[in-house]
Amino acid sequence: MDDSMRRIEDTGLIQNEPLIFEKGKKGRRGCSLPEWEVDEVNPGALIPSHLLRKELEGFPQLSEVEVVRHFTRLSQWNYGVDSGLYPLGSCTMKYNPKVNEEVARLPGFSKLHPYTPEELCQGILKVMFELETFLAEITGMDRVTLQPAAGAQGELTGLMMIRACLRDRGEKRTKVLVPDTAHGTNCSSSTLASFQMVGIKSNERGILSAKQVEEQMNEEVAALMVTNPNTLGLFEEELGEISEIVHQRGGFVYCDGANLNALMGIVKLGDLGVDVVQLNLHKTFSTPHGGGGPGAGPVAVKRDLAPFLPIPIIEREGERYRLNWDSPKTIGKMKAFYGNVGVVLKAYAYILSMGGEGLKRVSELAVLNANYLMKKLKDYYYLPYDRPCMHECVFTDRYQERYHVTTLDIAKRLIDYGFHPPTIYFPLVVKGALMIEPAETESKEELDRFIETMILIAKEAEENPDLLLQAPQRVKVRRLDEVLAARKPRLKWNPDDRVENIKPEC
Ligand SMILES: *Cc1c(COP(=O)(O)O)cnc(C)c1O
Repeated sequence: MDDSMRRIEDTGLIQNEPLIFEKGKKGRRGCSLPEWEVDEVNPGALIPSHLLRKELEGFPQLSEVEVVRHFTRLSQWNYGVDSGLYPLGSCTMKYNPKVNEEVARLPGFSKLHPYTPEELCQGILKVMFELETFLAEITGMDRVTLQPAAGAQGELTGLMMIRACLRDRGEKRTKVLVPDTAHGTNCSSSTLASFQMVGIKSNERGILSAKQVEEQMNEEVAALMVTNPNTLGLFEEELGEISEIVHQRGGFVYCDGANLNALMGIVKLGDLGVDVVQLNLHKTFSTPHGGGGPGAGPVAVKRDLAPFLPIPIIEREGERYRLNWDSPKTIGKMKAFYGNVGVVLKAYAYILSMGGEGLKRVSELAVLNANYLMKKLKDYYYLPYDRPCMHECVFTDRYQERYHVTTLDIAKRLIDYGFHPPTIYFPLVVKGALMIEPAETESKEELDRFIETMILIAKEAEENPDLLLQAPQRVKVRRLDEVLAARKPRLKWNPDDRVENIKPEC
């Protein structure tokens, strides 16, 4: 065994683990059933042979404990918000109270079939209707749909409603203005919704200026699509004035509200003239995320756009709730059934348990934590926009450049110290960005531990840059080829892929 192999062997309690296909023995099984009491029938006698499955080649056969240990070990290799601080900017990886999971799993909800007749599922309809009302209140909008399954799908939904409304008015507008501080999904959504995306520059303060919008806003522009707070973690201070300009010239203001964690109970986006906003329940409202879902991206609209909401629309008539499928101007359906109801339930439980004052406190603490961190680190990492931030702050590697250390090296070194790295190289307006969002759920001690580690890494960059260039060292796999996995994915297991045949990169 050469050195590179030894490194990925067992170390203390972090056990090495092969693929499940490499484990087990023929004939091993998870449970022992009693002997048949009836005669065995040859399946071929009952089912046409071409419909019968052939032998599953290489299918692993394992005992129960082997399966349990396999997945438990793999789970221990992972890093989640339950293992430590997860300061990924623009992602709000905050801790989600477990009680909200319990609520979503109550059998009355989790066992409900989507085709249950309305009169037998008044409870969930009430929950969904009330959540819509809560979100309308928080955002200062008129109506809400809970259907979209993610933030990006919410963006698409909002833009499709804008398009439908313009068509209804007999107007043809083809462009969407997207600032350079918007989230990357905004460009994709506007393109997917058949608009032409037109870039618009933020000013030297890192925000959009009314003057710039004034110059670019014309009768070809359907909407301005702005992220607030933007991806520099800055509040769009001129948005009120900007909305007026956009409206005067017949356009809509779309706000990407995925970062609502900074605004709840403090600012209502509707008051700033926003016509459509999507929220990410899986960021702000207590659904853990990062593993690919499920999520929910509800969309809130002002009255003008309400006729275009996806169907069905939940309506209240006295004490009863019903699903209205009859909405002549609707854009149709965006998602099977009514969206991801489990996520909706968690958000509902979270909002009720926090209350209005509680949500406001969430935002105050999220902003306080980010500013504390920014202030403590700005002598060590270059801060391109040196002014109070919202829920996240953006540094760069400019001070480390002279030691030939980059943002990537800093991020990798954090892993050695047991932290998940922040978002890196995003937003694109800042070269070598390190975008840090601590979230409100972290204690001062945890923030201080992170700050001390970041300062230590800045000192290492100066005194011993090799430590960073070779990081991470204290993990099972070190620097991976970040492109190879995407370019040459191995989607099928074959015996050549056995762990001992894989040569680590360094
Ligand atoms: C996360 C995020 C999105 C995308 O949300 P998904 O649920 O991943 O589709 C869009 N905009 C902003 C500002 C975000 O932070």
